[in-house]
Amino acid sequence: MQLLIKNGSVYAPQCLGSKDLLCAGGKIIAIEDTINESALVGEYQVIDAKGANVVPGFVDTHQHFIGGGGEGGYATRTPELKLTDQTLNGVTTALGLLGTDDLSRHVESLFAKTMGFRDEGISTYMITGSYFLPSPTITGSVMRDIAFIDPVVGVKLAVSDHRGPYITHQGLAELVAQVRNAALVSGKAGIITVHSGAGKKGLTQLLDVLDETDYQAERFVPTHINREDVWEQAVELAKRGATIDGTAVSQEMLDSGRKAMSCAEATKLSIELGIKDNFTFSSDAGGSLPKWNEDRTHIVGMGVGTPSSLLEEIRRGVNQFALSLSDMLVPITKNAAKQLGLSAFKGELAVGYDADILLLSDDELALTHTVAKGQVMVCDGEAVVKGTFE
Ligand SMILES: [Zn+2]
Repeated sequence: MQLLIKNGSVYAPQCLGSKDLLCAGGKIIAIEDTINESALVGEYQVIDAKGANVVPGFVDTHQHFIGGGGEGGYATRTPELKLTDQTLNGVTTALGLLGTDDLSRHVESLFAKTMGFRDEGISTYMITGSYFLPSPTITGSVMRDIAFIDPVVGVKLAVSDHRGPYITHQGLAELVAQVRNAALVSGKAGIITVHSGAGKKGLTQLLDVLDETDYQAERFVPTHINREDVWEQAVELAKRGATIDGTAVSQEMLDSGRKAMSCAEATKLSIELGIKDNFTFSSDAGGSLPKWNEDRTHIVGMGVGTPSSLLEEIRRGVNQFALSLSDMLVPITKNAAKQLGLSAFKGELAVGYDADILLLSDDELALTHTVAKGQVMVCDGEAVVKGTFE
């Protein structure tokens, strides 16, 4: 069925002004000042977006689809994400990954969940591996997972974390070589999403390996970088060509005194520092938010990440940091799609791109509609399509 979205203020993510959008076959097929219903043939649905902002669906590059956590005992394993966790929060494309726990969580289960989300109507990808090195894989090698398994676009790794592996320059460089080779063969992004722990060395090993070898910084996506202890090194990596990824924070987290700046603030800094094309932020949805004791030996409390923090950051950027809606959208649409190698069809509202579209109210930037590949998933704030067990 065709879908016509009329009279909205379109952010592609750049501001295009008032436009009508026509979608068919899951794609955007026209963006014009006016598209008349009378010209349409066959079945169609119209959404009147007058007074609303029409923006690309969010591309969330860090999610724990099958849950995460588990660092405080078996009862602290977080639950799997559901379809409406995504669609009610504007996520139409997401990247799944593993974290600390690769004992009771497996890349095979992540693969199944990734394909399940696709069946339910959104676009999903994954990276193989976990915090650890050697990386757990499906085929027995990182290179083969990326080259031969459709949704796999890279690998995960943790550095400088007391829960992660001890990494040598040799080990890191060998992983970069594998990912680079697989990216060339498959035409995929080939990323190493590097969990940046709070350890002494920060991101030093990444910078060292770039100095010592001929590998390009483009492979690296250090994540959780909106913290005082790693921000400067992350900026250095971005200047060399890496994509650096912040973790969206809720007001509750900011109020609790975590040593993190918001991604709204980080977006502003990325513009001022000339690295705005190399900055993304993501939700870490499904991951645990452990609260550690003073010397980080045991956990004293536990929360769970949710994609709702993405919209919260957008509102914060517009309301508190005087950024434009376009400025705040770029990291989680255009740049995030580029990070995953999907720039040709995701992350923008343009003819030929996937019809992943959100409507945000003009006043409060509240999500009213989510369209994923041309299918209306959320209408007037209500999920009209639900996951298999919802
Ligand atoms: Zn995570």
